[in-house]
Amino acid sequence: MTTTPTTPIPLASRASDLVGSVIDSSTSLLARQTHDIVRFAMGSPAPEAIPTHTLAQVGIAAMGAEAPDAFDYAATEGDPALVEALLAELAGTTDATTAERLFITSGGMQGLDLAFKLLVDPGDLVVVESPTYTNGSATALSYQAELLEAPVDADGLDVEQLERLVERAGRTPKALYVIPTFQNPSGATLTLERRQRLLELARRWGSVVIDDDPYGMLRFAGEPVPSLHELAGGDPLVFSVRTFSKIIAPGLRVGWVDADPSLQPLLINAKQAMDTCTNLPLQRLVAGFLREGHLQDHLVTQRASYRVRKEAMQAALTEHLGDQARWTDPEGGFFLWVSFDESVDTERLFEVALAEGVAYIPGNALSPGRRFPHDLRLCFASMPPERIHEGVRRLARAVERVRR
Ligand code: PMP
Repeated sequence: MTTTPTTPIPLASRASDLVGSVIDSSTSLLARQTHDIVRFAMGSPAPEAIPTHTLAQVGIAAMGAEAPDAFDYAATEGDPALVEALLAELAGTTDATTAERLFITSGGMQGLDLAFKLLVDPGDLVVVESPTYTNGSATALSYQAELLEAPVDADGLDVEQLERLVERAGRTPKALYVIPTFQNPSGATLTLERRQRLLELARRWGSVVIDDDPYGMLRFAGEPVPSLHELAGGDPLVFSVRTFSKIIAPGLRVGWVDADPSLQPLLINAKQAMDTCTNLPLQRLVAGFLREGHLQDHLVTQRASYRVRKEAMQAALTEHLGDQARWTDPEGGFFLWVSFDESVDTERLFEVALAEGVAYIPGNALSPGRRFPHDLRLCFASMPPERIHEGVRRLARAVERVRR
């Protein structure tokens, strides 16, 4: 190929606000490795936890020869079969809702993208938790938001500090992006009192609460806390984002938004300019899975399995890193957060850990301001207990090597 002189590509200013995801990139990074690696990096359910046989069976009816219309375009707001099955599934739960509030999305990420697309003008202030799920904060950045990081402790987002930080910022946030239950990445759950306070602050500031809760159905210990959606009682300032990625399978790319009915036409316009509709065969597959009652049984099995895995990870951490690190104690979800002292740089540790055969997400990748150089996120959900133990042993070996 001959090289021709090139003129610069006239990129939009927003192109430079796009930030990639260390989390997502770890999928291809790990696929390129040829040695055995214990994978604590991605937030994926274990391969054996995906109900493949049931999905295959349901799939034959949902998208087999008898269902040719399953391959057509779907309604932008969601296939009625899925909306109906989802409404029935959510009835009586803390996410109970009505059809006019539901909007089916291509995974949770699209719910976040729609939220920020409808809310954020360039330069608007958006509060994110610190640490946070940086794919979510990256979405806000892609609409040129300015981010304000507010700290998370064992009880979730510290709402008192949030109030002080917003006062100091001298302007009110357009949106508050929170992961209230079994937070990604800390595992913390926002207490009832703090949920109520957060809603009060949002009302006072006129901010929208983006309530991103993919893990809420995966509680394996402690007492349930009402969702922000339920506590809001229909307040238009709460925009809830949910997904089937963690409770059935991430490759489905099916999720939903629960938002004020007045937003439906805007959500439809935004999605029509994006991907027309969520892939119909997989909406039908999920609808069939729900309608046949498989989700509840599946969740019971998964919760029990994740409890055992979390305990295995904590036991292994105590055994191998007990005198060198602290970690959180999540009551559900996929993640725990490990904090070292200042002598351990978890980005530098990553290369050594990978060579030792274990992968995780460094803390700095989970904060837009890179505030966690000595912390890391571990996913306990993807591996059986023996592998968890082996992975933590390898991690401890890597720590020993970087300390030398
Ligand atoms: N929000 C949070 C907090 C998540 O952990 C994830 C997935 N890791 C998502 C949103 C995105 O979900 P999905 O894979 O369905 O796009």
